[in-house]
Amino acid sequence: MKACTLSNPAPVETRPLTIADIPKPTAAADEVLIKINACGICRTDLHVVENELPVRKSPVIPGHQIVGTIEDLGSNVSEFSTGDRVGVAWLNRTCGKCRFCTTGRENLCELAEFTGWTRDGGYAEYVTAPENFVYRLPENFADLHAAPLLCAGIIGYRALKLANINSWPGARLGIYGFGAAGHICIQIARARGADVYVATRDRDRHQKLAEELGAVWVGDTFDAPTVLLDAAIIFAPAGEIVPAALKALDRGGTLVLGGIHMSPIPQFEYSLVYGERVVRSVMNNTRADGIEFLKEAAAIPITTSVQTFLLEDANEALTALKTDAVRGAAVLQIA
Ligand SMILES: [Zn+2]
Ligand SMILES: [Zn+2]
Repeated sequence: MKACTLSNPAPVETRPLTIADIPKPTAAADEVLIKINACGICRTDLHVVENELPVRKSPVIPGHQIVGTIEDLGSNVSEFSTGDRVGVAWLNRTCGKCRFCTTGRENLCELAEFTGWTRDGGYAEYVTAPENFVYRLPENFADLHAAPLLCAGIIGYRALKLANINSWPGARLGIYGFGAAGHICIQIARARGADVYVATRDRDRHQKLAEELGAVWVGDTFDAPTVLLDAAIIFAPAGEIVPAALKALDRGGTLVLGGIHMSPIPQFEYSLVYGERVVRSVMNNTRADGIEFLKEAAAIPITTSVQTFLLEDANEALTALKTDAVRGAAVLQIA
């Protein structure tokens, strides 16, 4: 099969991903073999490629927002059939036994495997994945438009959950950074009745898309929203946004950090967290989050803006993401 592999992490401008012909994987007993139609591009892929996340498998095929069709079944697979359309996300497998897995917090499992980091992912024509961690996808999303739901969408959904908003109608939510996750998150928040304030760089793409999706206020990253916020989510990987977002937060508000990696957070005065303000991060998601999110996304329904690239152009797609040149989500069209 054709695959984009990473052997030596490096700045994406140096084209560290190379296209190779490698053997098609075979499904283990509890896995399905998936023929990939589309794979979304996530900022986490960029962190893997550029070594902001430590190397866990080398070479590795990145990509963890996979949409495809089941082509073969491991001997113990019982829930799926060949021909089923499915999605594979970042959380590839958990131990099922630890104190996190047994208390509804499998996203925190210390023995978890991750698609496109500790295991080969979706920048390829085929992938295998455990059947218990594969999602059925709502029919109203075409493959290319379903792909960004699988990480950008699910993580945005979990971030909204952790934002701890008790009553959504009229709630004031801030979103910092408006890429793939932001443009899905705003649609869920608005459907629940929130007013959304978006602070992001890039007037032509990100700010414009935020306006089109109904933000009540759009500004640059460090502009102060016109009201104090009940909660805010930072999707941009920039720690210097944290004090700015805390300044925009009302008493009792929660600031959620949505990324897997962030540059250092500058020192700030205690007054920015006093008033029972909370800062917390999001780490992965549970399968329950994924199932709940896909149901809500289909019911609203969410529309994803996608910019497509060929598998051969994965380096270019990641460069576009890095330079804010993507409107909505970048997706590799593979079949
Ligand atoms: Zn575990
Ligand atoms: Zn991701």
